[in-house]
Amino acid sequence: MKGMAYLVGAGPGRADLITLRGAELLKIADCIIVDKLANPALLELARKDAEIIHVPKRIGPGSFTQDQINRILVEKALTGKVVVRLKGGDPCIFGRCTEEAALLNEAGVDFEIVPGVTAAIAASEYTGIMLTDRRYSSQVAFITGREAEGKEDTNIDWNVLAHFPGTLVFYMGITALPTIAGQLMANGMSSQTPAALVANATLPSQKVVQSPLGEIVEACRREKIEPPALIVVGEAARGEAGLNWFMRKPLFGRTILVARDLAGNADTAEKVVARGGNPVEFATIAIQSLTDRDEFLQVLTELTSYDWVIFTSPNGVTVFFDALSALGKDARVFGSTRLAALGAKTAAMLQRYGIKADFVPTVFTGYELGIQLAALANLHEKRVLLLRSELASKELVEVLQQAGAQVRDLSIYTAVPQQGDAASLEEQIRLGQIHWLTFASPSSVRSFFEQVRPEVVNTGSVKIASIGPVTSKELVKLGVRIDVEATEHTTDGMLDAIENAERG
Ligand code: SAH
Repeated sequence: MKGMAYLVGAGPGRADLITLRGAELLKIADCIIVDKLANPALLELARKDAEIIHVPKRIGPGSFTQDQINRILVEKALTGKVVVRLKGGDPCIFGRCTEEAALLNEAGVDFEIVPGVTAAIAASEYTGIMLTDRRYSSQVAFITGREAEGKEDTNIDWNVLAHFPGTLVFYMGITALPTIAGQLMANGMSSQTPAALVANATLPSQKVVQSPLGEIVEACRREKIEPPALIVVGEAARGEAGLNWFMRKPLFGRTILVARDLAGNADTAEKVVARGGNPVEFATIAIQSLTDRDEFLQVLTELTSYDWVIFTSPNGVTVFFDALSALGKDARVFGSTRLAALGAKTAAMLQRYGIKADFVPTVFTGYELGIQLAALANLHEKRVLLLRSELASKELVEVLQQAGAQVRDLSIYTAVPQQGDAASLEEQIRLGQIHWLTFASPSSVRSFFEQVRPEVVNTGSVKIASIGPVTSKELVKLGVRIDVEATEHTTDGMLDAIENAERG
C-alpha cells in the first residue's frame, strides 16, 4: 500500500497560529517528521502512539542532512503510513519543499501541501512593521540570506535589491548581516534607510531592533539578536507604533514562574501567554500511576458490566490508557459502556484515544457532574465506576450514591513530590531572568520551597505574587517576602495584581 504524505506549515512560532487543516492532520498522523522551528507544543495534538521523528538541521551532532530527511520521509510514507512533514512557517517558503515533493512523486507517494503563516508575515503583524502600505510600500521581496554567505553562484542581484522600491525581508540572514547591509549600501542604498530585526516573532521572547541600515550590524551585536530572526529593510522598517499590539500587552517581556501542583493552576500558563507574558512552569508534583495494583487488573476484566465510567481529569485518562496500552489493549475494553468526563480538557484527552464522551457537565466540579448526570440518566441501581486520583474528594461518590447508584471509586493514580531542576532555577532567579514567582496554593508554596531556598528569592530582584491570604500565610511562615496578593482569589485576580504592580 502506498501511504500519504502531508507537507504541513507549522506557522511562525506560536503554536495556535497553525491552520485548522494542519492541526487536523497532526491529530491523525501515524508519523510526524518535525523541524526545529516548529513549536514543540504542536506535538501535543499528536496521537499517543504516533511516531515522532525530530530532524533538526543544525551544525553538530544529532543533526540531519536534507538527503537524510528526504529518505526518512519517503521510506515512512512507503510503509503505508500517514506521514506529516511539519515545517516552520510555510512549508514552501525557503523550506526545501520542491525537493521533498519531487522525491515523493518519484516514489509514487501521493502528497498534499498545507500552507502555513510564513515568518515574514507573522513578524510584520506582531510588530506593526507593515510589509505593504499604500504610502510607502507597494511591493515586498522575500530573500534568503543563506545565499549571501559567500556563495559564488548566488542568485541575488544586489543592484536590483538596492534600488527595490518597496520592502525587503531577508530570512536566515543574521550571520550574513554584515554582507547584506554592506552589499545594499555598496550598490547605492542609503545608509539612512530604515532597517529592523525581528527575532522569535510571535513568541513571548519576541525582540525587535530598529536602526538605520548603516548602524544595523552594530545594533544587532549590541542587542544580542540571534536566529531565528528576519531582517526588514525599507521605509516599512520604521514601523507603525500604534499597530504594535503584541508588545504593548501588559505582561510582555515578563517571565513568570508558575509553581504547579495538580489542582487549580493548570491553566495559568495559558493565561500568562494571553497577557503577553512568558510562562515557565515548575512542576512540584508528579503523577504516580497505581495501575499495577491487582484491583485495577480485576476491574479491567469487568469494565463492560458498568453502566457509566467517569474520568475526572486528563491525568486519569492518560494513566488509564498508558496502562491499557502496556497490556496490549485499547479503547474497545469499554464495549458499549457509557463514559462521562469532568471538564473539556478531560473530554479532549479521551478524544485523543478515539472516545467521544457521552456526558460532560456544564459546570466543571465533581458535585455538579454527579447532580447533572443523575438528572440526565436514571442512576438507580446502576453501576458507576470512577477512575481517578487517590486524593480526590468523596463528594462525587456521595452525590451518585444519593441518586441510587452503586459506585466503585477506583484510585488509578496519586500525586508525589517532584524534584525539579532547582539549581538551574536558582541561577535564573539570581541572574534576574525570572521576573515573578506565582503561588496559587499553600501546597505549591511548601513543595516549591522544599527545593528552592527562600534566601535566594528574597535577595534577588524577582517578585512574589500570592493568590490569597491562605497562600500568603504559608509564604510568611517560610519567611518569604510577598510583593502582591490578589484581591480576587483566582488566577486572573493574581495576574491582575501583577499587572498593577508592573504599571507601578
Ligand atoms: N519556512 C519558514 C522559513 C524557513 S527558513 C517560514 O515560512 O517561515 C528559517 C528562517 O525563517 C530563519 O532563519 C528566520 O529568518 C525565519 N524565521 C522563522 N521563524 C521565525 C520567527 N519566529 N521569528 C523570526 N524569524 C523567523
